[in-house]
Amino acid sequence: MLSWLRNRRRRAIREQPFPGAWDEVLRRNVRHIGWLDEHEREQLRDWIAVFLAEKSFEGCGGMEITDEVRVTIAGQAGLLVLGFTEEYFDRLRSVLVYPGDYLVPRRAPLDGGGELEWQEVRLGETWSGGSVVLSWPRVVDGGRLRDGGSRSVVIHECAHLIDMLDGEVDGVPPLECDRREWSAAMQECRERFEWAVEHDRVVALDDYAAEGPDEFFAVATECFFQDPHRLARSDGRLYDLLRMAWRQDPKARVPSRLSR
Ligand SMILES: [Zn+2]
Repeated sequence: MLSWLRNRRRRAIREQPFPGAWDEVLRRNVRHIGWLDEHEREQLRDWIAVFLAEKSFEGCGGMEITDEVRVTIAGQAGLLVLGFTEEYFDRLRSVLVYPGDYLVPRRAPLDGGGELEWQEVRLGETWSGGSVVLSWPRVVDGGRLRDGGSRSVVIHECAHLIDMLDGEVDGVPPLECDRREWSAAMQECRERFEWAVEHDRVVALDDYAAEGPDEFFAVATECFFQDPHRLARSDGRLYDLLRMAWRQDPKARVPSRLSR
């Protein structure tokens, strides 16, 4: 679509009043909303309205898509890009939602011939940035900060979407600072994390972060937003690198002691 036409359409959407019922959903399911200042809250509301107008939502496995589902997902996704201008995950077309964690059939060849088949449990994934798949209870737990403290499936998958913007899924998002310096420093943090996991040290991130640079970036981003003080205490350098990447400082707004 021509960008001037798109921008005009987005402006018109932002001028519509934000439904009171959507505010209710945000208050109930997106705990971060209470920590934003008035300007940021307004910015997030505008973002949600555009996002919901542009993306299609699809229920899978009997899931019913309601405004609560749409607004809860959009509220968490929009939080991530508060530091960006006009970032609406343009490549993303649809959001697929399951009523719970879902099973994906997997198969792998066996050494002696034949195949091993199994069902893998998933709570979310993204398909080349065009669709995102989410487990609804995990979405709610993340929004209410109840998914193991620092996890959020929406933030995780949206971190991958931002990572993909420059065409590669390599844990390096589009940056305003020097890309080479940033990724070298990020790699050091990852190596420190992997060493700590191998030596059974207490770490702020879920072990899944050790899967690769892309997962390290996505899991660290979850903790950056969901439990910023814990991340900063555990690895201040990593916190600073993510602050540069996301162009915001959640530590300044999220209370240091959270009831979960
Ligand atoms: Zn991932």
